[in-house]
Amino acid sequence: MDQTDINSDILTASLLRWYDQMGRNLPWRVKGKPHPTPYHVWLSEIMLQQTTVVTVKPYFENFLKKWPTIEDFAGASLDDILHAWQGLGYYARARNMYKCAQQIVASYDGKFPRTSALLSKLPGIGPYTAAAIATIAFEEKITPVDGNVIRVLSRLFAIQEPLPSGMKRIFSLAQTLTPSYRRGDFAQALMDLGATICTPRNPQCFLCPWQKSCQGFQQGIAEALPEKKPKAVKPTRYAVAFVISHADGSILLGRRQEKGLLGGMIAVPTTPWRNEDYPLEEALTSCPLRCMWKEKIKEVTHVFTHFNFRVRVCYGSVLEDSPWLPPDSFWVKPEDFPKMALPTLMKKILYPSKNTQNHRSPQKP
Ligand code: SF4
Repeated sequence: MDQTDINSDILTASLLRWYDQMGRNLPWRVKGKPHPTPYHVWLSEIMLQQTTVVTVKPYFENFLKKWPTIEDFAGASLDDILHAWQGLGYYARARNMYKCAQQIVASYDGKFPRTSALLSKLPGIGPYTAAAIATIAFEEKITPVDGNVIRVLSRLFAIQEPLPSGMKRIFSLAQTLTPSYRRGDFAQALMDLGATICTPRNPQCFLCPWQKSCQGFQQGIAEALPEKKPKAVKPTRYAVAFVISHADGSILLGRRQEKGLLGGMIAVPTTPWRNEDYPLEEALTSCPLRCMWKEKIKEVTHVFTHFNFRVRVCYGSVLEDSPWLPPDSFWVKPEDFPKMALPTLMKKILYPSKNTQNHRSPQKP
């Protein structure tokens, strides 16, 4: 089946019929009612990036309870937002949402722009999210293309060109299929079909409204699609972290620079992150204060999207009660950690774990 052979009316009608009966009930959906607000679509779509629906649901509900409108969100403090975001990871999303909300309030009088072209100029809103907001909230004639949609369309049209080079064709097919009515529902139906029926493994073709038209199913190659280039092996990066305690029991924390991973987040001092492990003597030259080091060292591992991260954690007590602290640093009592917006990696570093071992004492810098 080619673009010219598509009977998109039949495909659309059967998919929407299926969606009316089988589409998912989600807190940000309003099936059978007027469109959801763009604020709800935006919040859910950003939260759902790299995060599952099950994880997102309680966060979405909590955010709406705390900040029912975009004005409330823009008027909150960034620390409160980052705190509420804890556990969702990829904190750049939350920081960009904050900037985006402030821009919408300042430049658009608190109203989301109604087109994907304008939406995609806002912080943190890429082409997919812009299309999702524009079609679900405002009925723009555009279908957002995410992993679910790529999979469904690759199979429907038996596209065997490996990704990412096949993307242009998939995007074009998605727009050709977009109907002239119920466009927001069509986009959500396509997402639901990919999430619940046309799943990566064991697609439930016998339940699928598109089975009769599906080339991948008819050729018996559905599950092998979409074709992907083999993934490169994830590299490992390394750092040493310093958990430095004051005589009163508080721990030295600081705010990381805005740019880069965990940008703007609260963290213990670390060496620069790099592609080879550190000899301890070298690592300790990055420690911002003179310390007496303890015997124990903890190993922490963490997985980021593009690399695995291995951190060795050194524990020390600051040697002199110097009033000087590194920029953007402060002492925090451990009982106050839960009030801080600590990323998961820092929780792994700061909270006790079984992974702590006695080790030879590092040299003082
Ligand atoms: S028939 Fe099977 S492979 Fe084709 S779109 Fe439906 S679930 Fe996916």
